[in-house]
Amino acid sequence: MQIRLEERVALVTGGSRGIGRAIAQSLASTGATVVVNFRGNQVAADETVASIEAAGGKAVAIQADVANAEDVDRLFKDVLERFGRIDILVNNAGITRDTLMLRMKDEDWDAVMDTNLRGLFLCTRAALRPMTRARWGRIINITSVVGLMGNAGQANYAAAKAGIIGFSKSVAREIGSRSITVNAVAPGFIDTELTAVLSADMREALVKQIPLGRLGTPEDVAGVVTFLASEYAAYITGQTFNSDGGMVMQ
Ligand code: NDP
Repeated sequence: MQIRLEERVALVTGGSRGIGRAIAQSLASTGATVVVNFRGNQVAADETVASIEAAGGKAVAIQADVANAEDVDRLFKDVLERFGRIDILVNNAGITRDTLMLRMKDEDWDAVMDTNLRGLFLCTRAALRPMTRARWGRIINITSVVGLMGNAGQANYAAAKAGIIGFSKSVAREIGSRSITVNAVAPGFIDTELTAVLSADMREALVKQIPLGRLGTPEDVAGVVTFLASEYAAYITGQTFNSDGGMVMQ
């Protein structure tokens, strides 16, 4: 089985670092042209583009805050002007503002909802127009096992991530007749800057709950996303795939 996506244009939100970077690299390795979106860290975005080009792939970096409607409009306009199409959207940009419920500030709630849920809504709506015209599309939303099982100290994040699952199923039902699929991928604990804040003790406790006995890598997630973007996944929609070492078994 070989995945080839030569004619496809893919946009990966938050594609400059961590899981998004691995997704951008993986999609580019199939021949797709990849738009690496980022919010603030231009250096990381440029490194991702350079790594893709060094491997013979095609990529550009475009700054935009996915939580900001004007930025999202500009992002999609730019992609369509440059490439004339958008076939694959990976809604990966995400943040955490962890704290216990009683201490959670309005800003902690709003920041997580704005990036993790509103951003995904804005980008999905913008991508559906060209995808509907083309009668082909793949939307892959990065949720989390925390959206399935909850996590103390992450009520805002878990609510957003659970929301992504309901959102994905609803849009999948709306748009299936146009050959556009919408799926979610739920990573477990993946070794990135987002999880770098965990202490050694917390990591050890976490690993004990993972049947495969290790944290995941960004590449573990990127493989599932690339499969879902491919023709091999043409008959899959509205599903959530866990890439979590067996942490949550459904
Ligand atoms: P990182 O913190 O390593 O990277 C986050 C990426 O998102 C960066 O590219 C960042 O760009 C971008 N980003 C953040 N906010 C915005 C915004 N408002 N607009 C555009 N881009 C933005 O995160 P991970 O790679 O760990 O996480 C990626 C996704 O996977 C997230 O949705 C996260 O919730 C999810 N996830 C992660 C898990 C993990 O264990 N790491 C587990 C389960 C899910 P910049 O640097 O420019 O700000």
